Amino acid sequence: MQTETLTENRPSLDSPVRYLKGVGPKRSEVLARLGLNKLGDLFYLFPRRYEDRSVFKGVADLEEGERVCVRGVVTSRAFIRRNGGVSIFKVVLDVEGRPFFGTWFNQPYLSKIFSPKTKVIFYGKVEKEGKFFKMLHPEYEIVGDDPATYEAIHSARIVPIYPLTQDVSQKGLRQLLFGSTKNYLNLIQEFLPEASRQKLGLLDLAPSFWQIHFPASFEDLQKAYRRLVFNEFLMMQLAIQIKKRQLQNTSLVTSNKERGRAQLEKFINSLSFKLTQGQKKAIDEIVADIEKNKVSSRLLQGDVGSGKTVVAMAAIVFIAASDFQSALMAPTEVLAQQHYFTLLQLLEPLGISVGYLSQSVSSAQKQATLLALAQGKIQVIVGTHALIQSEVQFKNLGLAVIDEQHKFGVIQRASLKGKSDKIPHFLLMSATPIPQTLMMTLYGELNVSTINELPKDRIPIRTYWVSDSRRQEIYDFLESLLARGQQGYVICPAIDQTITGAISTIKDVTTTHEELKKIFARQKIGLLHGQMKSADKQKIMKEFRDKKIDILVSTVVIEVGVDVPNATVMIVENAEKFGLSQLHQLRGRVGRGSMESFCFVFSNSANEETILRLEAFTQTTSGFEIAQKDLEIRGAGDIVGAKQHGIPELRIGDLTKDIEILYLAGNYATEIISKDPEFKSPDHRLLKKAVYERFGLSNDKKITSVI
Ligand code: ADP
Ligand code: MG
Repeated sequence: MQTETLTENRPSLDSPVRYLKGVGPKRSEVLARLGLNKLGDLFYLFPRRYEDRSVFKGVADLEEGERVCVRGVVTSRAFIRRNGGVSIFKVVLDVEGRPFFGTWFNQPYLSKIFSPKTKVIFYGKVEKEGKFFKMLHPEYEIVGDDPATYEAIHSARIVPIYPLTQDVSQKGLRQLLFGSTKNYLNLIQEFLPEASRQKLGLLDLAPSFWQIHFPASFEDLQKAYRRLVFNEFLMMQLAIQIKKRQLQNTSLVTSNKERGRAQLEKFINSLSFKLTQGQKKAIDEIVADIEKNKVSSRLLQGDVGSGKTVVAMAAIVFIAASDFQSALMAPTEVLAQQHYFTLLQLLEPLGISVGYLSQSVSSAQKQATLLALAQGKIQVIVGTHALIQSEVQFKNLGLAVIDEQHKFGVIQRASLKGKSDKIPHFLLMSATPIPQTLMMTLYGELNVSTINELPKDRIPIRTYWVSDSRRQEIYDFLESLLARGQQGYVICPAIDQTITGAISTIKDVTTTHEELKKIFARQKIGLLHGQMKSADKQKIMKEFRDKKIDILVSTVVIEVGVDVPNATVMIVENAEKFGLSQLHQLRGRVGRGSMESFCFVFSNSANEETILRLEAFTQTTSGFEIAQKDLEIRGAGDIVGAKQHGIPELRIGDLTKDIEILYLAGNYATEIISKDPEFKSPDHRLLKKAVYERFGLSNDKKITSVI
């Protein structure tokens, strides 16, 4: 068998880790689970945190409770076995003439390590036992015969703590990182021109990688962090801007302004209500985009119930008047069907033909719809994910609307195909406010329209957090509203007990539906969940809309978009099971008309985070404040659905905290792209390579998506 080592084989950052000294096939499997396959990956295994183990003390200066290092020589050790299988191992160190103890439980192998005269460093929390000091389970490092020349790794410095997986010890990993970063640091190639580095005040790349792992001081660590975060953000910004440029070069639909405006006016006049200022402004902005005949991406933000659908319909009407098609995509079938009926009702009178597609449409009907779409006989297609399947071909798609965009993640424009390679306008709608920084990262210069008001007739929803003891009172209240012809929802986190287990305290819709049928004997109780057949879901929603169902017991399939203005009560069971934004969306199913609405969330949870969440929820009905609170409670790591929004996972850096660096990187990216869009300058050669490697962009592949 051939044995290879990196030194023999001219190492590169792409060399497999298994050829590193001390790794081998078995260990490399474990490392692969941490995503460490190549030498280069090791550099990017950034520490989760650091421990300052640089302070040494003599025994005379020790204080109980502090965490420090002590250096000494092993004088004796004892191995004690107790009944019940517990073994205790004790080591006595001579620390400048005074004794110091180390104690471990159940680690018999240590007696091999701490033979007398061994020179060691202990790091840990100082405790007192009688008049002596000791550490329980200290971190230890054997420092070799000549401590003066020994370079400590696990002590006597600011020590990195890495994310772990099973079967790797912190020490083993640290040792590996120490060796490989030190030995192969010279493989790290700087890709930023010297002048730029100077101007931006950035540390060189190779030292940054060393300092992020084994910082000489916290100040050095800070500098290294800044440089590496800059890299990450720069790559991302460049990738976004490259894609954007490629998009701008593509041609687009030509709009018929006069017909568009005329049809739009007809549409608005046909509505049963007056548009809010926010809606009018959003429509103006979208229409202005379309009239420019340049590809546009716009995000329409507006709280739950602010009336985004009608704005999307306005855009669809305008596009249809220019003889282009539109697609409206929703994340759930329930919502897609609702949109379909709304559009049928409001757009067909204007001569716009509407079609529907989802996984559950019968094959014959699907074929007919696909054909009509390809021939341009359908002007608007409404549907679910089914719309982005490859067999869906448009004659001339001019506008793609994505409703509840935060539920989708990244959608490639390329997946919405036209027969020509013309790129449609994109309109994304979301009730979940996306923080500015996130938006910039994701979309570069995505345009944003915000509807920051609700229709005038709305009364704020009253929200109460209640425990089981008030259940009867709330049911009585619900009954009184039902008696006046209003309707309500009851939301449970589970479908049935088979999933939650017999002893579960989690409410499920199946059982709850049966219970409520008994409690509200005179009312009609409906049941809805995601595992029902599509036709059944549709039937139930229709009955609810037609007031044939009084209480709809449902899972979160109605979380987004569902619009039945006559429903005024929302009851959420086991509210601790839902996130803050999710609760806000659920609450948004009521308060959609001019009647006063109520939201009751049941939870007996005493969990601290739940308490914070539910308190915040009852205190505000503003989606913006909810998002803010959500961020505070969950912490920056889990920024408002960053993953859902399809942000490439960051290896380092925090979009909520490192904003200054994000802007710095963004501006630098813009500078490069405007001066040297093709990366032709020798100064940018390595930079180009770095971006293309990181984001898998390729020169010859035409990229047709910004989002
Ligand atoms: P969302 O922004 O949550 O998607 P919808 O578009 O579903 O909201 O609108 C919520 C409800 O408000 C719908 O029943 C819609 O017909 C109604 N609506 C929309 N705009 C107005 C308005 N300007 N005045 C009154 N009702 C409106
Ligand atoms: Mg909506």
